[in-house]
Amino acid sequence: MFSTGGKKRVRYSRILILSLMLSAISAGVVPLGNIQAAADPSRLASHRIAIVIDDLGNGMQGTQDMLNLPIPLTVAIMPFLPTSKQDAEAAFKKGHEVLVHMPMEPFHGKKSWLGPGAITTDLTDDEIRKRVEGAIANVPHAIGINNHMGSKATSDPRVMAVIMQVCREKGLFFLDSKTTPTSKAPEESTRAGVPLLQNGLFLDDVYTHAHVSKQIRLLFEKSRKEADLIVIGHVGVPGKITSSALREAIPALQKEAEFVHLSDMLPWPQPIPR
Ligand SMILES: [Zn+2]
Repeated sequence: MFSTGGKKRVRYSRILILSLMLSAISAGVVPLGNIQAAADPSRLASHRIAIVIDDLGNGMQGTQDMLNLPIPLTVAIMPFLPTSKQDAEAAFKKGHEVLVHMPMEPFHGKKSWLGPGAITTDLTDDEIRKRVEGAIANVPHAIGINNHMGSKATSDPRVMAVIMQVCREKGLFFLDSKTTPTSKAPEESTRAGVPLLQNGLFLDDVYTHAHVSKQIRLLFEKSRKEADLIVIGHVGVPGKITSSALREAIPALQKEAEFVHLSDMLPWPQPIPR
């Protein structure tokens, strides 16, 4: 008797929990996101890939090859360089999205690799703000910012707070290139109310055919596991290698995933300045 009663109590308490959950859902207390995602098989099947190409703006090798890829692309353009404006216009005309590729101080590496208008951790808040606003004004059609290098600067909460504040004022989102695991972009974007996206894979951090091929294989694997995957490649030394590897892989990837613009992956709708 005792054990039956016990079982009954368990059953009743399960029913009670379930009915509490259902009434909470109908009252709008419990977010429905997960439940809907689980119930909708097409949502699970539709994997998406956003390809971001960094380092445009200096007449870099492979720029045309990248812009001519037959998919929606997002290109990140370094400000204040000879072809910054030209590359932004060319990308925009082809229907690609444009980001400001903000040069930012790394823990290691030469300052000369940063390029003009770089954000370093010794700058005042006012100077950081001025440089970010200047960079946005210099790259037409930019709808977001991502970091060029920047392991040290993105790890500095003060620096990131100023950058996020400018993003918020200009209606831009931030893509964390994730050059370091200690980046403060998550905390500071949340604090400022700026949408944050994060790089999931570098295609060509080593400039060899063998490495890029290995990363393309990884791209296939990761895109099967992750609903939304952001991938970064580069023009410049690896530009030709990466663009031809991508061109070759695109038809097979399109059978498994959809290529989208970066802004399609924003966590919430964003007014996009054009
Ligand atoms: Zn870069």
